[in-house]
Amino acid sequence: MIYQKLKASALEGPADTLKMKDEEQYRWLPQNCPICEKPPSKFVGMRGGRAHRQHLGVECSISRCGSCGLLFPNPMPIPLNGPDQHYGVLPEDYFQHHDMNVKGGSALKLLHQAQELTGGKGRLLDIGTGRGELLRAAIQEGWTVKGIEPSNAFADFAVQYTGAEIKREPVERCGFDAESFDVVMLAAVLEHLYNPDETIREIARILRPGGALFVDVPNEKGLYFRVGNLYQKLRGRDWVVNLAPTFSPFHVFGFSPRSLRALLKKYKLKPEYWHVYAGKAMVPNRGGILGGLERFAANAITTLSNFGELGTYIETWAIKV
Ligand SMILES: [Zn+2]
Repeated sequence: MIYQKLKASALEGPADTLKMKDEEQYRWLPQNCPICEKPPSKFVGMRGGRAHRQHLGVECSISRCGSCGLLFPNPMPIPLNGPDQHYGVLPEDYFQHHDMNVKGGSALKLLHQAQELTGGKGRLLDIGTGRGELLRAAIQEGWTVKGIEPSNAFADFAVQYTGAEIKREPVERCGFDAESFDVVMLAAVLEHLYNPDETIREIARILRPGGALFVDVPNEKGLYFRVGNLYQKLRGRDWVVNLAPTFSPFHVFGFSPRSLRALLKKYKLKPEYWHVYAGKAMVPNRGGILGGLERFAANAITTLSNFGELGTYIETWAIKV
């Protein structure tokens, strides 16, 4: 859902801030699988620039880890100007399609799940606070909270909206005490990070035993991505529809049920609740007969992907053993 909405906002937002123009704005670093610490074994296709219907971003070569199936660009494009190169936009532009009341409602559901899993309302860390809807709901519900939001524009907004303490650094650099949180939230964040392995390792350190981590990520092995890639292949292109390393929503690592389980297992985080789901159809906005066919296909795929682990998103609560 977030994937679709952020993508839409990129198309409608201020083009010069969201659309990266050339590869010189990046450092290009050889990338190993951060989970397995091995070089990728398979090239899967190109993404961005020439290899994108709207020429968004710059062209990247997308690879897959042979052991866990994680997808990532190799080399990895690292923005030279830091996170603000991608996220230095006003929150009202970036989140223009997100209704704050709707987000507050889903926050309540998550907080009740957290309470059930950990046995009470305790200390909660929200990584990737955004505008702070979850933090605000948590404070109102009686949790003790902290937030992390590396983008200054979002952090300023969240401080005003919640009154909570918001750190502006990656969790690995915040220096939290070991076992000092009951719950850590990582909603629509992991796929944006350049060091997902270090982040999960640090979360496992700062969670108390029996504490819970919430993660949700796009499922890059879902039916929508599989059919999208097949469609490109049938049209004779070497493009893939996985990831968005240099354009909104800036997904740099592509998880699947297998790779997410591998990462959690590596740090003794045991999935207690696991849900792969379709979400809303990512319907292309093109007109004509081809556009109509694409819309029909997108809706059909979304319905079919409710079965098995073929959905477009994965969400899980994992308990620190
Ligand atoms: Zn791997």
